[in-house]
Amino acid sequence: MFKKNTKSEKEVPLESSATKEFNERISRLLLACIEGICKLISKKEDTLCGNLESLGGVVRKVTRPKPVAGLAKDIEDFFSRQHLEISFLETKNDTVKQIVLDLTDTIQEITSTTGDFDHKMELSIEKIQAAGNIDDILALKDGIISEIEKVKVSSQSIRKELNEYRRTTQSLSSKLEQTEAKALVDALTNVLNRNAYNMKISQMVREFSRGNAPFCLLVIDIDHFKKFNDQYGHKAGDRVLRSVAASIQESLRASDLVFRYGGEEFVVLLAGTQAENVTKLAEKVRNEVEKDYFIDKEKKMKVTVSIGVACIQPGDTELSLFERADKALYEAKRKGRNVVVVAE
Ligand code: GH3
Ligand code: MG
Ligand code: MG
Repeated sequence: MFKKNTKSEKEVPLESSATKEFNERISRLLLACIEGICKLISKKEDTLCGNLESLGGVVRKVTRPKPVAGLAKDIEDFFSRQHLEISFLETKNDTVKQIVLDLTDTIQEITSTTGDFDHKMELSIEKIQAAGNIDDILALKDGIISEIEKVKVSSQSIRKELNEYRRTTQSLSSKLEQTEAKALVDALTNVLNRNAYNMKISQMVREFSRGNAPFCLLVIDIDHFKKFNDQYGHKAGDRVLRSVAASIQESLRASDLVFRYGGEEFVVLLAGTQAENVTKLAEKVRNEVEKDYFIDKEKKMKVTVSIGVACIQPGDTELSLFERADKALYEAKRKGRNVVVVAE
């Protein structure tokens, strides 16, 4: 009797701690799912999100789970990637609409004739403005191109220019169709990827040439990253990449876009920023990365970045702007690394 009692006394705390651990894990998973789902649906489904959040509140109160880790962290990362991709794509419909509107404007300008063509173009413009999605807009684009074909035969000089614009729209549409099929978020670092960069930079350069939407571009490269990989291994290198991406993101405003451009190189697009303010922002990024030590086992390591900066100027193309920033980056490396250089 005495023995039995002792055994059951021992078993109670053991059982309850395993149950507690189990409950905590389940709670973390549940909370990661609730928060992720709410992030994705918040705009459309206020009531559902409200209900899910109250459920989350109850779960938190009952189990008080520890900070998110393991599978729950993977779930959280998954939803963050989805959220970033969706919010990035929200701007895409407007971009396509603008491309097609620009094209029709230009065609109207170069064909100053009145009559059937103009009338059809006006109808197209109205339809484009009312179009709600990319399929509608792309379908209208086909109609416009067939009208262009008709006009093309009427004049030799117009034909040349129209061919040019037709090629532009066709290549833009196929570019869009291709990028639509590809992911826009880098799976390792959870920032936007090179596809997303290609989409965004062409939109921003176009907007700048149309009006005054200034912006600056930072090319950020991790210093001596090869040595780091060689010394601590590729896996540690990957963790550094994630940590640097997070530091860059944290040092900027939510509206600034961070892209992984390639291996250990990132690009930041600072919309609305002018040359006089950009050094401060780039220095903030550099400093944020430098102060965030990277810990591997007992070792504390400093990771630094060099930054090349360029701000858009009249006449710039995507390439000329990037090349200026890249040259400035080269200069930053030459100066000894862990510095910011702003292009002239
Ligand atoms: P510098 O200061 O001149 O930029 O020197 P660096 O060593 O950083 O530059 P280098 O271009 O010689 O080396 C870049 C290294 O980045 C080489 C490659 O192994 C590593 N790298 C590229 N992509 C990844 C990745 O996804 N994960 C890891 N761990 N390493 C990567
Ligand atoms: Mg590099
Ligand atoms: Mg490097």
